[in-house]
Amino acid sequence: MSERLYYQDSFLTSFEACVVRAEAGGVVLDRTAFYPASGGQPNDLGRLNGVPVTDVVEDESGEIVHRLEGPLPAIGETVRGEVDWERRRDHMQQHSGQHLLSAAFVRLFGFQTVSFHLGVATCTIDLSTPAVSAEQAGRAERLSNEIIFEDRPVRVFFAGAEQARSLALRKEVEREGEVRLVEIRDLDLSACGGTHVASTGQIGVVLLRKIEKSRYGTRVEFVCGLRAARVAGADYATLTEAATVLSAHPDNLPALMARQVEELKAAEKERQKLLQAMAGYEARELYAAAPEKNGVRLLVKTLASGDVSYARSLASQFAAQPNARAVLLLKQPPTLVLAQSRGLAADLGAAVKKLAAEYGLRGGGSRDSAQAGAPDAAAAQRALDAIVRELN
Ligand SMILES: [Zn+2]
Repeated sequence: MSERLYYQDSFLTSFEACVVRAEAGGVVLDRTAFYPASGGQPNDLGRLNGVPVTDVVEDESGEIVHRLEGPLPAIGETVRGEVDWERRRDHMQQHSGQHLLSAAFVRLFGFQTVSFHLGVATCTIDLSTPAVSAEQAGRAERLSNEIIFEDRPVRVFFAGAEQARSLALRKEVEREGEVRLVEIRDLDLSACGGTHVASTGQIGVVLLRKIEKSRYGTRVEFVCGLRAARVAGADYATLTEAATVLSAHPDNLPALMARQVEELKAAEKERQKLLQAMAGYEARELYAAAPEKNGVRLLVKTLASGDVSYARSLASQFAAQPNARAVLLLKQPPTLVLAQSRGLAADLGAAVKKLAAEYGLRGGGSRDSAQAGAPDAAAAQRALDAIVRELN
């Protein structure tokens, strides 16, 4: 089993090792500083003899396999490994920040962390509690940052499983054999194989972003270190951009947007009222001009585009007049809208249903009003012609 150099020293990023296995999947070294994806922490990246390392995984036997972009070195060859320090440091900040935040939630409220995910942009922990209030989240964030400012030592050490179980671990250890423990002085002791900072000050800052329900209870999204600065900067840029569109100060955005949403709703209501009235005028005008056949005034009309609700209103207001039938085609979205005065012989819903399969119509209706969507404007036109023939 290859020696895991990162177990002792998370800051080691340059090392020499000997290739013990080299096959299609990648190379296994006698010792490595590359962290393989595990325990919620993504793998390291970097170079082996200058060749980019594309992935680092732990295989079924527990060996660390380095996948390379180029040709593999030979078995027995000595290689120089370089771990991408920026990425490693970011993962250390997030992971140590997670231990800190998880411990803060336990200390303050007894909320246990049941899972951890270190993502590309943000991190999450799932807490086994149905809810976390904004006030609780604020207090956990505050405590975490206080401990960061105190710059407490973070120590990594090993213990036997029995011995580990006798210590006050945040979470019980299930595995046997030697256990790696990570301690934040006077706050947290956890079994963990990840890479960690040397003292809490190196986490920089913990910033909570979102609290939401999750399968396991409550999910808390957070970022630490340089990520927190980057994310806060990006958040503020987004806010400023939105504020500029509305010619407002970012602080006034929530109130302003709430007001605008209300105004928009009121305007939409007003628009619907005006459309109804307009459809009424148009319906009466069209009725006066509509040809009469067998005692029925028939309106067949194509509307280029617009509201389905306008078409519906026009058809129903046309049909509100005596002995009237409207067959409308809306080109965009391709829709047929039918309505007729009560008491006429035809059944519009049945007519649509009868032609549905042939013209790909989706919809239906009652005896005196029906509506159907068509696959496209041409199909809608053919369906309209067929319906007019059917109804006459
Ligand atoms: Zn951990």
